[in-house]
Amino acid sequence: MAHIHIIENEQGDAIDCNYFCSDSCNRTHSKETYQGWYGCVEVEFDDVCINCGNLVKGVYASVDEYYREKEEGWRMKKLKLELLDSGAKAIIIIALVWLFAFVLLMLSLVI
Ligand SMILES: [Zn+2]
Repeated sequence: MAHIHIIENEQGDAIDCNYFCSDSCNRTHSKETYQGWYGCVEVEFDDVCINCGNLVKGVYASVDEYYREKEEGWRMKKLKLELLDSGAKAIIIIALVWLFAFVLLMLSLVI
């Protein structure tokens, strides 16, 4: 969780932001540009508070972890699709077996 101070240009457009470990660090560092408590915001990656140097914990510890979780998500999605695909194949095979058995039964009744 991070405390964020948005940096704006003369037109009031956000052009950058600083991450802080706490609102008090934001107040101390930002001084007269402090704009009030922005709220506690999740950030994707670990960062360092620019006021005190404490860790600002991100959702992911690193870019590698971010991509590892993303890759794991894709792998699980692919596995689900493969299971659905194999399930569909099994249903088709069972239906064909039943159709073949039905045709054999009909042939045996005719003959
Ligand atoms: Zn701090």
